[in-house]
Amino acid sequence: MIAIVGGGISGLSAAWYLTQAGHACTLVESRPCLGGVISTAAWEGCVIEGGPDSFLGAKPEATQLGRELGLDNDLVSSNDERRVTYIWRNGRLIALPDGMMMMVPTKTWPVVATPLLGWGTKIRMGLEYFRQPGGERPERSVAEFIGEHYGREAVDYLAEPLLSGVYGGDPRALSMNSVLPRFVEMERKYGSLTRGALEARKRMTPGGALFRTFRRGLGSLVEALEQRLGGVKVARAAAEAIERQGEGWRVRAGGEWVEASHVVLAVPAYAAGSLLRPLDAELARLLETIDYSSSMTVTLAYRPGRLPFEPQGFGFLVPGKERRKVRALTHVQNKFPSRAPEGYTVMRCFLGGAGREAVLEETDEAVLRGVMRDLREMIGLHAAPDYQRIVRWPRAMAQYTLGHAYRVKRIEERVKGLRGIFLAGNAYSGIGIPDCIRTGRLAAEAISGGRNAIR
Ligand SMILES: Cc1cc2nc3c(=O)[nH]c(=O)nc-3n(C[C@H](O)[C@H](O)[C@H](O)COP(=O)(O)OP(=O)(O)OC[C@H]3O[C@@H](n4cnc5c(N)ncnc54)[C@H](O)[C@@H]3O)c2cc1C
Repeated sequence: MIAIVGGGISGLSAAWYLTQAGHACTLVESRPCLGGVISTAAWEGCVIEGGPDSFLGAKPEATQLGRELGLDNDLVSSNDERRVTYIWRNGRLIALPDGMMMMVPTKTWPVVATPLLGWGTKIRMGLEYFRQPGGERPERSVAEFIGEHYGREAVDYLAEPLLSGVYGGDPRALSMNSVLPRFVEMERKYGSLTRGALEARKRMTPGGALFRTFRRGLGSLVEALEQRLGGVKVARAAAEAIERQGEGWRVRAGGEWVEASHVVLAVPAYAAGSLLRPLDAELARLLETIDYSSSMTVTLAYRPGRLPFEPQGFGFLVPGKERRKVRALTHVQNKFPSRAPEGYTVMRCFLGGAGREAVLEETDEAVLRGVMRDLREMIGLHAAPDYQRIVRWPRAMAQYTLGHAYRVKRIEERVKGLRGIFLAGNAYSGIGIPDCIRTGRLAAEAISGGRNAIR
């Protein structure tokens, strides 16, 4: 028997791959529903995602899991023809220049023409092309790294808003080496990120969608897993303690003990730390030093004919410097047209993130008032929504801050001392859904193969 603590996508993936390999499992989940931060609702045919809404198409694990579960026909791709992202600056929305590979420019004229950046930054971006490799460099924060290449304005108006939508994080705290290692590698190889990005573009296979998801929402992945994991016992209680039991372990949940040869801890790192403290205080300390940010989503939906304007592009990002409550907004029906019936408008706002967590303490009424004020001023939205959904996610997004790789290495070393205990989840080697599925699968493979894993 294998005990899996945590029924988010990481724990469910571990359960799936373990049962596929013939192991019996018990899943321990403290919330009434499985799926963790995946939380799909429906309203008049619109798909309303309270947590994640899609995953990167370039990472294969989620697509592969969907296929294994028979969801091939439900996989949908982002409508990249309409993929324009805007940035809010000086009272208006400005399109990200064409050809940006995140914060790295690969086309000259769009950068020259954009009102998003000043001439100092544009000249710096041009000169960056001529940077030469400078050998091994120490770990740097995202702000230090991008600031060194393109200057402060590129940090504030490109790196910070682009990353806040993924990590809800602070670029001065996040480690470039852990968050965007491919750019660090480009710097090592080419010196210039722009030259590195141009080289990478040449090797990219055209045609793959940037984002993928499931027609009826990510919740259909969770539903399919629940159905196919019919034989797995689910204990709906918080795991309170883990103890050694003979050659194996036992986990106490809701006052009952679950005996297991192996335990997969697919919970946030701080929750794993508190469970492991009696077994290894140093491991617990390391796990608890992994920071988390808190965020929330506010979705507003409108029936046909309610809005006097046509929502543009995939949506927009709001740099922290602009001091708005809304940090990002997605026009759901533009990004994934199958997610709203013809004429409906669904706007998904992202709030909170590092340093902005206080918004989670506000009442729904205050949050909605603030969001509507922002959207009135930003996109001229005056109409009260026909439907709204507010979901809070306290301490849900792991932050790969400076020293992250070292912390994870130490955690890996120490967890080896607890034979039969495995870690999975978004705290270690990637925060996206495909990364989480990978950690669950690797834990399952390690158990089947008698190894140790969190990678
Ligand atoms: C608002 C938001 C938007 C996001 N958007 C995207 C996106 O668009 N694309 C993308 O790829 N990623 C996105 N992410 C990241 C991604 O969704 C998460 O990293 C991933 O889903 C985490 O899965 P998990 O199973 O590791 O953790 P979780 O989903 O947090 O699951 C952990 C589970 O453990 C349970 N648990 C905790 N402690 C205990 C205990 N003691 N006993 C029993 N159970 C316990 C919890 O109740 C929870 O169900 C987003 C995250 C958030 C919060």
